[in-house]
Amino acid sequence: MRQKRAKAYRKLMALYSMSFGFRQPYQVLVDSEMCKAATELKIELAKQLNSVLQGDVKPMITQCCIHELYLLGKTQQPAVDLAKTFERRKCNHREPIPGEECLTSVVGETNKHRYVVATQSQPLRVKLRSIPAVPIVHVNRSVMVLEPPSDATIRSKEHTEEQALHPTGSEKQVLAGPSTSTEPPRKKKGPKGPNPLSVKKKKVDSTPKPPAKDKGKGKEKPTVGVRDAAVGEKRKRDEIDDREKVASSEQQVGDAQQDEPKRKKKRRRKAVDSTAVAAESTSIPS
Ligand SMILES: [Zn+2]
Repeated sequence: MRQKRAKAYRKLMALYSMSFGFRQPYQVLVDSEMCKAATELKIELAKQLNSVLQGDVKPMITQCCIHELYLLGKTQQPAVDLAKTFERRKCNHREPIPGEECLTSVVGETNKHRYVVATQSQPLRVKLRSIPAVPIVHVNRSVMVLEPPSDATIRSKEHTEEQALHPTGSEKQVLAGPSTSTEPPRKKKGPKGPNPLSVKKKKVDSTPKPPAKDKGKGKEKPTVGVRDAAVGEKRKRDEIDDREKVASSEQQVGDAQQDEPKRKKKRRRKAVDSTAVAAESTSIPS
């Protein structure tokens, strides 16, 4: 094979591999006419397939195609012998049908099993060209030829490539994730030092301090009140003592006048204490 043609075939098989998932060994469906041509032209079919497809091959023949060769009689015995060396492809046609129809059904509408078809049937080749990703091989004047990709194959390839360029739904989500994650660092940069600290302070004030403050206030106020009350009591005692001491004196009136404001003060303090207690009682449940 010429270097140029080998390069073209290698490129074409790379297309089938990359775009449609063809893998070695390539499964090659060989029809009865191809077997006949190979024996008549003395072509080493497997070897030629190897070089044309630029890789390992697994020639296969369907039950219907080998049945066609049996029907041809002993004149085509070499073709039958050749076909028997191939792997048998079960097509599950109970009554043998024409080879072209059998291969069409085996390839199906999408060639999901990724077969290469080696056929000498012109109508079958035309039919297979309408199915994307079906490499077609035929023999022309004892030279095995791999057909250039069909229009259906090229369209399908371009479609898959176009799809590959655009992210899928799940990929979009993945792409959206990193983009949102890149934004938070910017936010971190923006506020700089002081703002986060101020936010932290606020948080500290709002959550742990209020109960502490209430408790402190509650405790402090009563103690202050108690102190005041104690002072008041002392003053009371002092006053009482003073009264007893100065009972006979005329200063009684002046003391009494002094007492009144003090008593008012006491009442006020008591009222403050009670409000403080009330505040405490309300604050504790929360
Ligand atoms: Zn069949």
